[in-house]
Formats: sequence, structure tokens, C-alpha cells
Amino acid sequence: MFRKILIANRGEIALRVIWACKELGIKTVAVHSTADIDSLHVRFADESVCIGPPPSHHSYLKIPSIIAAAEISNADAIHPGYGFLSENPEFAEICRTCNLTFIGPPPEIISLMGNKSEAKKVMKKAGVPVIPGSEEPVKDYEEALFYAKEIGYPVILKAAAGGGGKGMRVVNSEKEMEQAFKMAKSEAGASFADDSIYVEKYLQKPRHIEVQILGDKYGNIIHLNERECSIQRRHQKLIEEAPSPALTPLIRKELCETAVKGAKYVGYENAGTMEFLYENDKFYFMEMNTRIQVEHPVTENITGIDLIKSQILAASGDKMIYNQDDIKIIGHSMECRINAEDPYRFTPCPGKISTFHIAGGPGVRVDTAAYSGCVISPNYDSLLAKLIVRAHTRQDCIARMKRALESFIIEGIKTNIPLHLKIIERRNFQLGNISTKFLEEILPKK
Ligand code: ADP
Repeated sequence: MFRKILIANRGEIALRVIWACKELGIKTVAVHSTADIDSLHVRFADESVCIGPPPSHHSYLKIPSIIAAAEISNADAIHPGYGFLSENPEFAEICRTCNLTFIGPPPEIISLMGNKSEAKKVMKKAGVPVIPGSEEPVKDYEEALFYAKEIGYPVILKAAAGGGGKGMRVVNSEKEMEQAFKMAKSEAGASFADDSIYVEKYLQKPRHIEVQILGDKYGNIIHLNERECSIQRRHQKLIEEAPSPALTPLIRKELCETAVKGAKYVGYENAGTMEFLYENDKFYFMEMNTRIQVEHPVTENITGIDLIKSQILAASGDKMIYNQDDIKIIGHSMECRINAEDPYRFTPCPGKISTFHIAGGPGVRVDTAAYSGCVISPNYDSLLAKLIVRAHTRQDCIARMKRALESFIIEGIKTNIPLHLKIIERRNFQLGNISTKFLEEILPKK
């Protein structure tokens, strides 16, 4: 087991990892930029190291500074959290070279699954249904036109190296292609330093359903069931829940077993998520995230398994203690991402929080690094808190979420709490009639 873990992240996920380490009796090292000196992850870690100025590329993304911090503090492993360096194969490789255990899958797997078009190709070989599209990135818009004609409009152009909803363009007809291709390519190049683009069939009203995978170093891989993440804004998740209200036990079994088959095919290790789109009773693999997800708590709630501790144990070489049959679904869980942003325009609203009173009571969990008086920096993403509830049924979960949202008081900055309330009060949401288009359909047209 590790003695000391460095957490290469900030905010709520850094704290979440600290909690897990404390429970496992492992010492922690926080890294932080100069903007985060007063952050809770710095306060609660056993040690902390300043790694640079506020912009992420000078601090949380700066590999030499993070490795130096691990060496100075004599840490033996690094937990990357999500975002930042969590899916950077080069970082995982450098950790390995420096004798630091990267808490996640090996760099070869991150690299293979990190390229979305490569990942689709491998999953197809593994017998996992994938969204129809070009098998390889396309070299120019004419090639994109060729594939679009073959699969039929609408199509979506996606960055092979993409993430965070960037570098995607929906193309409804031939005449939109040239412009959309240019835009997607330049956005991909600017965001990911890799401008390769592939073409995929654009599903009109799918659900986003993903499967949580957990594997050890000895080829044991299980699934912890699915999460539904269809409530999205700008292709980014806003509300997640588990289990999905859309799946029958039979389809759930088929989906989750297919995900395990895919993960086994690539020799997956540690925690990961296979993302699918689900439409007309069929599911299609979209991409795999080779890291812990923001929405992991809903899975923890319905399975009773601590995913961060499981990641740490798996990385330290422990054998999986669960069989697939041990995994049961207990009740229902839902998460609202509370962002520091304008609820309807989605523009970030950084600033100082004057009052911060978190929701509590039965079945409520809040993962956050915010507090009264803290400053939300414009340098990082706008996620302020995750409000997670659990209850026996989905209906009880929604009632609990409503009262928790109403008693969560955040003053001094704008948050999207009013939007969450609006969503969960909608009849179609309550009936489970949701899709990735849900939010677009209820928002006032511009
Ligand atoms: P990122 O990695 O940038 O988050 P994803 O590939 O995970 O991008 O897709 C994010 C979201 O974009 C999906 O949850 C879905 O809402 C939408 N999307 C992506 N591909 C398609 C598609 N082929 N058809 C319809 N919607 C899609």
C-alpha cells in the first residue's frame, strides 16, 4: 500500500481523494497554483507544494513542476483526479519512469482509448456496437462529404482528441459541410494540439448512458452498472443519475456486459467509463474515459462501493475483492452540478462567495471545496459543488433533490440552482422522458 499520495488536481475532486486517503491511512500532498493558496485541498492535505501561477498550463498542467513536487515530498503515487493531466498518456508514462505510481490505467491504454476514432475502431473489433461513421479521421471536407453521404445526414464532426464538448459540429446538409469542417478543425487544433476530425452519424434524440468499469492488475474486470447523463448543456453534463430510468433489466445486463467485454478486450485496468448513446432500444459506443468521472458519486450511492478507494487499491496492486454477482443496485441516486454560471446563458460567473450554506439532511451528500468567503477564480472550470441525493425510488430522489436545492444557499455569485429546479419540476423529467435534447427544448428560444 502507498505511504503518500500526491493529488495532481484542485477543487472538490482533490478533497474527495484526500478523504479517501485519510480513511485508508495514507498521507497526502496537495499541489496548488498561487491562486489556490487558501483552498481547502491545501488546508486538508498533510503537505502542500506551490507549483506555479494561476493559469493551468503554468501550474496544474505543468508536468515537470508536478513531478518535482512529488519528488520533493517523497510521494509514491499520483492521483490525477479528472480533467487536467488525468488522460494524458505522456504524464502517466513520465510517472512510470520516475517510479511514481499513476493511479489509473497504464499509459498504453490511455493512449489507445484517448483517441476517440481509434477507440471506436478497437471497440468495433471487440464486438461492441459503435455509432456508424468514418473509421479513421478524414483528411479534408470532401472526404467528410463522402462519409456523410454514405451514413446519411445529419452527421457530427468530432475531434479525435476531443473532450469537454469542444471541437464538435453538427452538419445537417451537404452545403454546411465545408464551413463546419473548417470550424471543427480549427477548434480542435486550438484546444487539443491535434486537429484530426472524424465523421459520425448524428443521433437526433439519444440518451447518454455510460457504464462504470472497475478492473485490477490481474485481468479481473467488473461493471458497477450504468449512469444516465442525458441532461446536458452544450454537450456537457448537468444532471446525472443511476440507474437509468430508460433501461429494462434485460437491456441493462446486455449493455453492462458489452462494456465489460470491451474493457476486457483492451486489458483495461483501474476505474474507467464506457460512454454510449442510446436510441430506439439500441446502444452505441461513443467513447471511453480512462479516469474517474465527475459523476462517480451516484454510482457509489447505488452500489455502496467507494470508487476512489477502489482506484487506489487497484493501483497499489490489490486484487479485486468483488465478483460481478456482489454488485447490486440499491435505490436511486441523482447528482446536480452546481456551477458558478449564469443559469440560462451558461457564461461563467466567478467572484467571491459571501454566504455558503450547504444542503444537508437524510440522503444528501455535497462534494465541494467552496466555503463562505472563498473566491471562485476565473482561471478554472465553473463547477462549484456537486449536490448528490439518494433515496429508495427515483420519485423520492427528485423530491429530496428539490428540497436540497431549495435549502442550498449561495450568495455573492450567480449559480445554476434556479435552472436545476426548473428542470426537475418538469413533468417529462419526472416521468423519466429525457434525452440529450431535453434542456434545449425547455429553454426559451433566443
Ligand atoms: P466530449 O468528450 O467532448 O464530452 P462526447 O463524445 O463524450 O464529447 O460527446 C458529448 C455529448 O455530445 C454526448 O453526450 C451527446 O450529447 C453529444 N453527442 C456526441 N456524439 C453524438 C452523436 N453522434 N449523436 C448525437 N449526439 C452526440
